[in-house]
Amino acid sequence: MSRRLVARRRRTYPTHMSVATTEHPATAEVRTEHFDTIVVGAGLSGIAAEYHLQTQLPNKSYLIIEGRESIGGTWDLFRYPGIRSDSDMYTLGYQFAPWSASKAIAPGPDILNYIRDTASKHGIDAKIRFGQRAVSANWSSTDQRWTLDVTSGPDKVPVRYTCSFLFMCSGYYNYSAGYTPEWTDFDRYRGTIVHPQQWPEHLDYAGKRVIVIGSGATAVTLAPEMARVASHVTMLQRSPTYIFSRAAEDVAANWLKEKFPGKLGRGLARWKNILLSMTFYGLSRKRPELIKKLIRKGAQRQIGPDFDIDTHLTPTYAPWDQRMCLVPDGDLFKAIRSGAVSIVTDHIERFTETGILLKSGKTLEADVIVTATGLNMQLMGGMKIAVDGDTIDLGKSLSYKGMMYSDVPNLASSFGYTNASWTLKCELIAKHVCRLLKYMDKRGLASATPRRDASLTEEASLDLQSGYVLRAQGVLPKQGSRQPWKLYQNYLRDIALLRYGKVPHSALEFAKRKRTKKARSAKLARRSA
Ligand SMILES: Cc1cc2nc3c(=O)[nH]c(=O)nc-3n(C[C@H](O)[C@H](O)[C@H](O)COP(=O)(O)OP(=O)(O)OC[C@H]3O[C@@H](n4cnc5c(N)ncnc54)[C@H](O)[C@@H]3O)c2cc1C
Repeated sequence: MSRRLVARRRRTYPTHMSVATTEHPATAEVRTEHFDTIVVGAGLSGIAAEYHLQTQLPNKSYLIIEGRESIGGTWDLFRYPGIRSDSDMYTLGYQFAPWSASKAIAPGPDILNYIRDTASKHGIDAKIRFGQRAVSANWSSTDQRWTLDVTSGPDKVPVRYTCSFLFMCSGYYNYSAGYTPEWTDFDRYRGTIVHPQQWPEHLDYAGKRVIVIGSGATAVTLAPEMARVASHVTMLQRSPTYIFSRAAEDVAANWLKEKFPGKLGRGLARWKNILLSMTFYGLSRKRPELIKKLIRKGAQRQIGPDFDIDTHLTPTYAPWDQRMCLVPDGDLFKAIRSGAVSIVTDHIERFTETGILLKSGKTLEADVIVTATGLNMQLMGGMKIAVDGDTIDLGKSLSYKGMMYSDVPNLASSFGYTNASWTLKCELIAKHVCRLLKYMDKRGLASATPRRDASLTEEASLDLQSGYVLRAQGVLPKQGSRQPWKLYQNYLRDIALLRYGKVPHSALEFAKRKRTKKARSAKLARRSA
């Protein structure tokens, strides 16, 4: 990628989270199509949503709108070297399509193929309209339906849909650009700058000096991977992250699958990992000192006794105040031990023409700088959401069961766990949406609207202290102090609430289906017959 192109891209990076409010072009002559349910997004959660909808309610009509030209969302967008899951695929994979490969920590391309294969096997791909970006959605209480304004293709041709239920599976970040902090003299640097969210296809870093800025999941993946061919990789971090090693191949899961062939073995492997990750999280919160000690011991053993763990691998916060990073087979630790990767913990004073000057006075020289500095969180795929023409500020709304929003009828969104695999929660949400739709159908109900109770105390919805979450606090919905408004980030509690808990609740206000002109005349015709 030419420097000029990089510089142009750099200037366009937004530095704050945005809930975009792009206006739809004039839509005077736009044809409108109606579907019972529209799913926005064909990533991991959109495919799960459609699978459950079409399986549980096969007589309904569905459409999936996907802004990009392909399936897979995150797993199609991110193309940086070494991209992989950082949670195990037995739980990141779908319950209805158990992961069968031997590697539990799987490469990104394998995950993408898995999503594509699942969509094709269940005929879901045929329901996706690609290149269609939902721009706004307005609920009409009179018509008891959503109207979605969508732009189609590169020319942004206006398209309009209506639906009775809107299921947002649009992920949690802005696809157009990742987050890049504002650094002094960033533009002075003459080498190549790359953000992992927009990885240039043919970036050549063989034999080059690389700096990876960041210490999150992307940085710890990139550093050892790039070090395979780079002359050296420096991981430059402001502060350390908890990093622990785990085998990429899950020996116990593979044993279970071998011992109990078929569904049973894969189910056991999945439950083993669900329970293990819950235990690890629970222990981290209850006995942080013990977990800190274990992580420290593991890192020291793999990197070697001379490495300064206190400075580079000992965060000031408790385990799980921010997401922890997993390195499969200790690849990062091995690369540090071999000298191919080094960690520098310091602050950036400014960029120079050839590298970075640090606050300590030290200079790092580089041919390539990777800004693994995170995402810009974005809800609702940047869509403007309105109810009867009034725009909803989701930052002021309260999340109901972690899937609906106060005062917004017939809208659910898929938002996964921050402390376990995303898909675990997304599938529970999809199943609960199916139960809600069945409940409403049976009783002739047209809408369900969560209404908040004035006695609730509001809390931040995510208790992570990660930069991308803190930057987004103003626009993230809040959670309440008790169920069903409270988010426990706990799979077993959510099974009880979403899978087996009652659908109706005093906080959920239902409205009867209005008789349309067509239905009224059909009834009259039936009577007179
Ligand atoms: C690099 C990376 C690695 C990750 N690794 C893990 C992991 O190991 N484990 C884990 O649990 N989580 C992980 N995550 C979180 C990850 O995003 C989720 O696991 C999961 O892939 C999200 O799936 P999704 O379908 O909800 O959203 P996405 O994958 O973001 O898909 C959303 C889809 O919606 C489409 N869309 C958005 N807005 C619109 C619109 N307005 N109109 C039309 N279409 C729209 C997008 O184009 C996209 O295709 C990772 C995230 C990243 C960025």
